[in-house]
Amino acid sequence: MVRIAVRDDLKALEGYHSPQVSVRVRLNTNESPTAPPAAWHDAFASELSRLEWHRYPDRAATELRAAIAALHGVDPSQVFAANGSNEVLQTLLLTYAGPGRTIATFEPTYQLHAHIARLTGATVVEGERRGDFTLDLGEVRRVCESFDPVVTFLCSPNNPTGLVEPEANVRAVMDMATGLVVVDEAYGQFADWSALDLIDEETPLVVTRTFSKTWSMAGARLGYLVGPSWLVAELDKVILPYHLDAAKQIAGRLALRFVDDMEARVQLIVSERDRIQSAFDNMALHYWPSGANFVLFRPRTRSGRDTWQALVEHSVLVRDCSSWPRLENCLRVTVGTPEENNAFLYALQEVLS
Ligand SMILES: *Cc1c(COP(=O)(O)O)cnc(C)c1O
Repeated sequence: MVRIAVRDDLKALEGYHSPQVSVRVRLNTNESPTAPPAAWHDAFASELSRLEWHRYPDRAATELRAAIAALHGVDPSQVFAANGSNEVLQTLLLTYAGPGRTIATFEPTYQLHAHIARLTGATVVEGERRGDFTLDLGEVRRVCESFDPVVTFLCSPNNPTGLVEPEANVRAVMDMATGLVVVDEAYGQFADWSALDLIDEETPLVVTRTFSKTWSMAGARLGYLVGPSWLVAELDKVILPYHLDAAKQIAGRLALRFVDDMEARVQLIVSERDRIQSAFDNMALHYWPSGANFVLFRPRTRSGRDTWQALVEHSVLVRDCSSWPRLENCLRVTVGTPEENNAFLYALQEVLS
């Protein structure tokens, strides 16, 4: 058997890992704990029954783009949708990164920003955040001046820390960056402001969003960005034709009819998150107060890895970040339903006492 060698620059890369262990309570991937409303299911089933499966889907996803544009009060030409915001990021990086170009991240942050950039052959410069994981603008200046990144990533609220990036920081980064600034707002509905308000045709800024979290549609794989129309036009050249299947276009368009339900879910998650954090106050652990639907924490009496394993034995799965750089002994729990959160807190109490 002959194994063909991969590209030299891919040899050292590891894949993206998020173990899916079979447990009762799954709090590891920041999904919504509840399904979309029944009225969405009905509307989706009804439109699906009329779908012309023998035809290619609308290549431009015209109606979906129009619905997203209406939601944010922008022009449809400023919206690019793809199979999850990860494919949005990949398309962006295929278009603007690649060999001989540099992109910048400020760590710790969402691992896929650096990972996808490396897959395109780009050089990744990892800037450091402060010890408390807030953004260090001096470090941003150093990275921008020394490396002239073509794309600079921010993430707000940031995954895995849960910290919301203040508007003043995003504006400061936009001033310092010489290339494109990408603000990943996968958890944007949890924050008290959005960089969407800073988008215009003259500014090299894009904001990415997803249906996977607050919209309760991780199963659909749908995400988008809002940015200048000249940039969207370039992405449309790079993406594969007909990449968004017809059913997904319907699913996403109909989801946007249920904004109130989405916002109610966000409210419930926020109150459950605050309840988890109050419980954390009484336990032997450190945590980072979160502005999203997950909380990063660090047990004091047991190693992160041990705690993770013991939780799995209680049939509770959280994200093990303990081996990630800068996150020694840290775990990340997604806010679930009240029952799931009770099960998690009960198990954690047992495990740490
Ligand atoms: C979950 C998440 C995404 C979502 O990716 P999809 O491909 O849309 O499911 C993007 N960015 C961040 C920071 C996330 O945490």
